[in-house]
Amino acid sequence: MQEPLVSVPASIAAAYSASRLIVRVESASDASYVAGIPRERIAWVQTCLALADFAWPEEIALDIVLSDPVHEARRLYALARLYEGSLPRLTIPSLPGAAAAAKLAIALHFPVRLLSIQPASGAVADLEQILDGYLHDPCASEPVEFFHSVLASLLRDAAPNLWTILGCDPGLFPRIADGGSAEEPESPVYPNDFVAQRLAGIVASGGECADCAYRNWCAGFFKWPDPSYDCSSVKRLLGRIDETARELRRDLTEMETFEYDRQAV
Ligand code: SF4
Repeated sequence: MQEPLVSVPASIAAAYSASRLIVRVESASDASYVAGIPRERIAWVQTCLALADFAWPEEIALDIVLSDPVHEARRLYALARLYEGSLPRLTIPSLPGAAAAAKLAIALHFPVRLLSIQPASGAVADLEQILDGYLHDPCASEPVEFFHSVLASLLRDAAPNLWTILGCDPGLFPRIADGGSAEEPESPVYPNDFVAQRLAGIVASGGECADCAYRNWCAGFFKWPDPSYDCSSVKRLLGRIDETARELRRDLTEMETFEYDRQAV
């Protein structure tokens, strides 16, 4: 079973001495706490674009979360120069400008995580545009999540899980609130099998997930937090990913057949 990664504000991270951590840094004073945390306990530091040029220790993995893609996108050029050779991951939420920011991030070879919680239909259209870029832009060389891991898993006939890929499973990625403490850590506390339990509840109540073709790997992700969210736009996006995986599998099979025939000659 995967060991939980605790997402914790930097100021109280030292109190979590038994856990692997996602350390959240929101200010320069927060950043100073990072030096006091043993490196091996930090999975990555999650921070904002304004702190990207802080003097982070080299061995720390960074996740830079955009909060205003429209205006922050132009700063990605400078970020790419600053971290040349070892680019941090960019998390791009479904906000205005997300598609343009992701397009630029792909072109600059940043690894990207698209964070889209119950997106409106316009935001799904953005995700489709980003998917097109990821699949067809010759510059695309780094993972764009969740597309990358879902496609890789479907090609291996494995069942990916959007909650895990995006680090959103509250059982595996418990989040200590900004005002939290080591004594009052996670409120509420979620069980390790939270995702399975929640999906089972939706299915048992005859919710939309019950007969959804993507249930095995979406696992009800888009029904969180509001179980009445209408998945019709999202299903179009997931269908395109599913179809792409099928096309890739056909291509691989044809290549293998061709290689077999070539060797037999
Ligand atoms: S796409 Fe929607 S209906 Fe389908 S499994 Fe995901 S959350 Fe459920």
